[in-house]
Amino acid sequence: MSIKVLPPDLAAKIAAGEVVERPASVVKELVENSIDAGSSQITIEIKAGGVEQIKVIDDGHGIASEEVSIAFQRHATSKIDSQEQLDAIATLGFRGEALPSIAAVSRTVITTRQPLNPGGFRLELLWGEPVSSGSQGSPPGTAVEVLDLFGNLPARRKFLKSSSAETSRIQELVSRYALVFPGIRYQLMVDGRVSFTSPGNGVHREALLAVYGPQAATAMLEVHGEDPETGYQVDGFAGAPSLTRANRTYMTFFVNRRWVQSRMLSFAVEEAYIGLLQVKRYPLAALNISIPYEEVDVNSHPSKREVRFREENRVFSTVQRAVRAVLMADSPIPSLASPPESAYPAAVAPSFFPRSAFGGARYGGGMPDYGGGLEGGQADARLPKQPAPPLKVVGQLKLTYIVAEGPAGMFLVDQHAAHERVLFDRIYEKASEQEPQSQPLLELVSVDLSPAQGDTLKTHQEALENYGFQFEPFGDGSYLLRAVPAIFGEGDPAKALLDVLDMTAFEGLVRQKEDVTAASIACHGAIRAGKSLTEPEMVSLLEQLEATPNPHTCPHGRPTMVHFSSNHMEREFGRR
Ligand code: ADP
Ligand code: MG
Repeated sequence: MSIKVLPPDLAAKIAAGEVVERPASVVKELVENSIDAGSSQITIEIKAGGVEQIKVIDDGHGIASEEVSIAFQRHATSKIDSQEQLDAIATLGFRGEALPSIAAVSRTVITTRQPLNPGGFRLELLWGEPVSSGSQGSPPGTAVEVLDLFGNLPARRKFLKSSSAETSRIQELVSRYALVFPGIRYQLMVDGRVSFTSPGNGVHREALLAVYGPQAATAMLEVHGEDPETGYQVDGFAGAPSLTRANRTYMTFFVNRRWVQSRMLSFAVEEAYIGLLQVKRYPLAALNISIPYEEVDVNSHPSKREVRFREENRVFSTVQRAVRAVLMADSPIPSLASPPESAYPAAVAPSFFPRSAFGGARYGGGMPDYGGGLEGGQADARLPKQPAPPLKVVGQLKLTYIVAEGPAGMFLVDQHAAHERVLFDRIYEKASEQEPQSQPLLELVSVDLSPAQGDTLKTHQEALENYGFQFEPFGDGSYLLRAVPAIFGEGDPAKALLDVLDMTAFEGLVRQKEDVTAASIACHGAIRAGKSLTEPEMVSLLEQLEATPNPHTCPHGRPTMVHFSSNHMEREFGRR
């Protein structure tokens, strides 16, 4: 075939494909336009997963009648007009591609009115070509209606998922925007029914409640961190370690309040939870990173989903440290008290959880100020460090749990998890002081390793030695074991090594971290469920647990104790 320039409508369809991948991308672009227009209320209506209809209505500053058709030309934008502005973009949009792209693959109807104008204007386009326009009475703001999406691109439509799957993407998207712009009231209507609303009162915790529900929202910790050198700030929420999910989709990141997807940022958060979460469990987080506009390139992806940082490592460590600091300061004990019932109850904040420090970032009229809202100068809402409560032993239950009484009720402590935590901290501390606590074996023990175990041993040799193992190769997959970690006490040293190798290999697939080795050594050394403990043993275990910095979770992230609050018990017994 000879080389030809594509006809404009075909070129437009191809270009549209980059921006408009699916219904959720249309919603994203339209909502971002509404946010850029300084709206305080955004309503989204979808039908049949967005294919039949998507309508986004806002109360923002609208578009001048004579400029409406320009907005549908490619690269038409009111948001930047120079290279300098492109280098430091403060609005969510800037490419001037969304409206023309959406219009190219749908029937689009826009109605808009600037608040100070008496009348509005309406423009309808079909597959990118204007079909009618003229003045029309309308409320201030803009409504964009997108019908029959991909009606002229049957191939693209075939690639869409079921309408319920497309709907759930849209729900997820809207809720993420509600989290980072709590000053905007969102309403999502799905097939004529209200599916999601956010209060829009600027209180982050209430947005959180609307998105995650009361149980998760109360177990989220407030994060505020700043790197004093770069001034990068991290604000938002991270789940307590007891609150986990089976995948990473519950981590949401914004950079200067632009929703981005970033493996780097997920890793930074996961890193903060090391030693606190079980294998293959992931934390919840909703974090905004504020960084000077010129240090982030938002123009690296057509749908602006990915961003590039000038100082990626600094961003990573700022996020990791901010989250870690909060987790260390407070790992709340899971409580069996029932979650608050009503939607926005005052009781949402238990004592360890001060009400949002984010305060009223509102966006009503004018150009929004993306940079300022989240910081708010109230960083002193840091939570006080919460030591483990002093516990009095009552007895042992099922040879597995220690029943104890504390200041605020009853505690059930898992003896294995508690001992694991104690041992993990001890091994970890000794290892970081380069003082492995070894227990030499009276007789060398030879251990045969499978090729996989041999690989794990070589990969983690330094960590294993640092934690107290001593061994040397003995030819053909065999090793001679000279010493084991002191905490192992008696027991079969060869089996101990094999167990630790297997656990390290299994968990190491997920996180190549030496902590995993320490956790598996602790697990192996810890007393088991089913072992009868004397009262002095229980007292001593609880004392040791209380002395650790993270008494409430074992190194795999399981809780070490469950709390039955006095209030809860009194309610259960009808005493109040
Ligand atoms: P971009 O957002 O990158 O500028 P778009 O194609 O999304 O490009 O929009 C083009 C222009 O139309 C915007 O720059 C803005 O001036 C105007 N516009 C679009 N949507 C709205 C809206 N909801 N309210 C006010 N103005 C809007
Ligand atoms: Mg836009």
